[in-house]
Formats: sequence, structure tokens, C-alpha cells
Amino acid sequence: MKALKFTDVWCVRPSEVPALECIDADDVIVNIEVCGLCGTDVGIITGDYPVAVAGTTLGHESTGTVHKVGSAVKRFKAGDRVVINPTYACGECRLCQTGNPNHCERKHGTEAGVSYDGTFADQYRAKERSLILLDEHVSFEEGALTEPLSCTLTGVEKLNISHTNIRACVIGAGPMGMLYLWSLSLAGVNAFLVEKNPHRYRFAMDVLPEGTHLYNDFHQAMRAEYGSDDEKLDVCIDTTGYLSEVVFARLAPGGKLLNVALKDYSATLDIMKIADKSLSVIGSIDSLNNSFARAYNLIRDGQIPVARLISHCFGFDDYQQAFATVGCDIAGKKQHAISEPNCKVLLRIPAQKKECAA
Ligand SMILES: [Zn+2]
Ligand SMILES: [Zn+2]
Repeated sequence: MKALKFTDVWCVRPSEVPALECIDADDVIVNIEVCGLCGTDVGIITGDYPVAVAGTTLGHESTGTVHKVGSAVKRFKAGDRVVINPTYACGECRLCQTGNPNHCERKHGTEAGVSYDGTFADQYRAKERSLILLDEHVSFEEGALTEPLSCTLTGVEKLNISHTNIRACVIGAGPMGMLYLWSLSLAGVNAFLVEKNPHRYRFAMDVLPEGTHLYNDFHQAMRAEYGSDDEKLDVCIDTTGYLSEVVFARLAPGGKLLNVALKDYSATLDIMKIADKSLSVIGSIDSLNNSFARAYNLIRDGQIPVARLISHCFGFDDYQQAFATVGCDIAGKKQHAISEPNCKVLLRIPAQKKECAA
């Protein structure tokens, strides 16, 4: 079978590897249908997020069809359509036992597409408990957005929002920014969105929650929303990682900055202000508290219009073109600005099915 292997920074190529077999009794072999491209994949390829183990198959946002099940598997059979939760948690280590299974101490070696062979491949070896059956009306493409949506539900929960009349902002209109915007909207909060890339801006314009304002500059947005350069903000979700200091200076007392960007970037923040203004600087990664199942339910019930966030779907062989669409030029070993309207980009894995169903 084919698998997109990471061997070193900028070294990513399809390899032919043996078909997978169940090892443990609760293993399920899934034939992958769709796998989404994620900022994590780009960070691994470019070296910005140096966490991946050389030789690992990339990819973690996926759906597929059950191929084989281990002897103890009860809930699934060959042919079932499923979505895969790629984040393993042992349930027994100190971090799992203290409510942080997304930081399981045994994550290294088990994390799909980072330290465990992921889903940019014909097959993936999953655990029974990491799968959810896809309802018939949910396409493989829509289902593939369960994982990123789950991450945004986790992040929004960390903000502990108690009032819907707060001033809120999301920075970045990539897939995470858009999913955060929609997750906030479901929580009753109307945030404004800032995106400086004109192509991402163009795509976002048509998929905003009702009443959302879109800007290409944070300061201009603050002025337009609140009327002056002295006004402050209650909540900001920065998906780019680059505006921490700028946003921090504009947080109102009690304000919260959620950073979800995996960027190799440092910021200087005023410690006195954190205490004096009761500010919070929060990070969030992966899923928590059953957010994966809840994310799937929101997609199933049409509460988050994930199909509209899918801008591109490429066949596996066109993986370089797919990554180039999100600014990652694998052949040229360089990053470039996004140059066409886009949001979520997917790879269709089976060779015979290149069309996107979403
Ligand atoms: Zn992801
Ligand atoms: Zn653990």
C-alpha cells in the first residue's frame, strides 16, 4: 500500500509499504478515504514544529471504511464507514489521571501522523475505541473535519465563557480560525475575524456566521468595531501565533488570549498586567472531555457547516499540489504566501476516486 512518509525537514514522499494487520485484539484496520491537510503537517514538513519521528506516515484528520477487525472488536465490522480520532490516551499515566489525556505521557509513539503511522496512506491501524460510525448522510469529506472541530471545541471550553455579550475576536481565517468562529457562534458569541491574506479573506467572506464582520487588520478592526484606539477586547483566539503582544495590549480587565498556533515564535508579555488586570493567557491542543464525539454530533446535525469550509480536494498523487495550495512548496523546499482562495484542503486517498463528495 502507499503511504506519505516524512523522513526529514522538507523530505516527504510516497512510499510503498506492507499492508497492515491487526496486532492487538482491539485493533481495527481502516481503509482511508479522505485525509485533511493540517497546519501540524505543514509545521512538521517545514521544520517549524519539530515533533515528528523520521519515517512516520503523516496525516491525522481522516475517515475511511473498516477493512479488518481484531478478535475482541464488537462495535465495528468490515465495510463500516468511520471517522478516526487520531489522539491516543492510555488512561493510566499521571497526565491522563489528572484530566489532561491530550498530553498523555505515552503520546510519543502513539500520535497519528507525528510518532505513529498516520492516515495519508491506504490503511491505518486504529483502536476500536478511537472510531465513530459515520451516519449515512455524512460524507467522508465532512467527517474528516471532526478532528479539527474537536480541537476548537476544546479551546472554546478552556475560555470558560459566561457572557454572550462579550467583545471577541478570532485571528486567522484558515480552517482553525473558521472553526473557532463557528464554535464561538454556537456558544452564542459573535466574534469578528481578522485575516490579512487576501485569498483566505476572499474565501472566508462567503462562509461566515450571520452578522460576523471580517477585517484585514486588527487595529482597523478594533477602531471599526468599538470606535477608538483605546477600546479593549474580552476574548481573542489567535490561530496565527503572531499577534500575542498586539492583542495582549488591547485586553480588557478579565480578558483572555487563547493561542492555538504551533509556531516557533516568542512573545514578551507584561507580568504585572496579568495580575493587575486579571488577564488569562491560555493554550489549547487536541481533544478533551469527549469533544471528539461532540464535534462529530455537531457535523452530523448540520450545526457547523463544515462542507462549506472545504475549498479543495486533491487525489493522493497530487499531494504536492495540495500542500502548495496551503503555501507549502515541498518540491521547492520553501513556504510561500497562499495565492488562491482556500480554507480546508483534503486528499482523497483511493486512486480510483479523485472527486470530492462534499
Ligand atoms: Zn490537525
Ligand atoms: Zn496517558
